[in-house]
Amino acid sequence: MDSPSIIHDSIVTSSKVQLIADMSSQSTVPAPAPLPLHPATSKILIIGAGTFGLSTAYHLQEDGFKDITVLDKAAELPALDAASTDINKVVRSTYADSFYTQLARDTIARWKDPMWEGCYHESGVLCIGSAYADKSYENDVAEGARVSLLPDAERIRSTFPASLRTSGHEHPPQSRLLGDFADYSGYINLDGGWAEATRSIKILLDIVIARGAKVESRKEVLTLLNSSADKSGYTCGAICVDGSTYPADRVILATGSWTASSFPGLALDQRCLASGQSLASLQLTQEESERYREIPVVLDFRTGLYVLPPNRDNVIKTGLHAAGHTHMVAPSTSEFSSAKATGVPRKISTPRTILSHPEGSDGLRVPRSALRAIRDHLKVVYPDLAEKPWAGTRMCW
Ligand SMILES: Cc1cc2nc3c(=O)[nH]c(=O)nc-3n(C[C@H](O)[C@H](O)[C@H](O)COP(=O)(O)OP(=O)(O)OC[C@H]3O[C@@H](n4cnc5c(N)ncnc54)[C@H](O)[C@@H]3O)c2cc1C
Repeated sequence: MDSPSIIHDSIVTSSKVQLIADMSSQSTVPAPAPLPLHPATSKILIIGAGTFGLSTAYHLQEDGFKDITVLDKAAELPALDAASTDINKVVRSTYADSFYTQLARDTIARWKDPMWEGCYHESGVLCIGSAYADKSYENDVAEGARVSLLPDAERIRSTFPASLRTSGHEHPPQSRLLGDFADYSGYINLDGGWAEATRSIKILLDIVIARGAKVESRKEVLTLLNSSADKSGYTCGAICVDGSTYPADRVILATGSWTASSFPGLALDQRCLASGQSLASLQLTQEESERYREIPVVLDFRTGLYVLPPNRDNVIKTGLHAAGHTHMVAPSTSEFSSAKATGVPRKISTPRTILSHPEGSDGLRVPRSALRAIRDHLKVVYPDLAEKPWAGTRMCW
């Protein structure tokens, strides 16, 4: 949940490009300005077909760019292990950083566009817990969001459906559908909720292809091509593991948490660290699901727990927003060999996923300690659900 998903603006992706531009400016010889782009003729190469790659393609098309190629290493798109591929994601403007709040509010307005075919569900986002929530509250208020302060447990409970709050005859006497939230305060933002992540990525994929972009799967980019003609050192294309070469006037890296490990020669691991976050899901019966259908997204800033409402398959996704886990691997590409030659041998945190470690679904496993923590924190919100067995887990990078 580090950034708003489905960004309808290339700002965040271009910050990745900026990162690379910053690095080139560290060389002693100042690089000349890159050649200007022309929408009708410039060749754009985007590496990575997740949220950021496809969103960038979409917006470049909006700006009139005609020649866009998107490459992704996965055999099938959306890539099964991409961060963007998930049953659902929280859509919220509750960020302590006011830039994120503004960006997310713009995004939320756009989620309501019919192009998304109802992928967005405005369930409201309930934030309980710490000072972070208070700062988020200030940002939400400043941006005019529909927010209400919830100073005590009773007010927090009032944001859930009545069927969860009552202990009526329809439930067993010992059942505890909803926590008592003792000592908790928080706020609810009605301008937010969740989105069907994989379905929306598929929609975006279809749109950019229909508008003429070439999107190629099974294209793992091994290295970036540097311009040798003018000695500027600007990136002018990419070479894939299968030997295919893609020349371009502009190359955009949208490789998510693979960025540092895929391109070790760029030394981005000095600036960013890929980490895996633990997710777990619960399978509800249809009857249970109806009971929880209208719940808000819950973010507990005290513990890092988040819980989404059941999706159309009656699955509830929950996870821990935490520092996460690294997977340190020594890259073996030729780019890295040259980095080693310069005297910086190192390991880089590399996503360990269901595609890189498919045996016995190894790449989906999360640490037992994380599962215990999720279960303990879930008891605070939905005590009964916390007793159910996990239907699945995933380490999401
Ligand atoms: C556990 C977890 C939960 C999250 N929850 C939320 C949430 O609730 N709300 C929210 O707004 N955000 C959330 N986020 C953040 C959000 O999911 C990400 O910011 C977003 O999906 C990143 O998109 P991306 O396109 O940068 O990366 P990805 O979706 O990971 O896409 C990167 C693509 O690049 C491809 N690729 C990688 N290397 C290469 C290569 N060398 N050659 C070719 N292709 C390559 C991959 O196959 C992949 O398809 C969450 C993130 C995580 C990890």
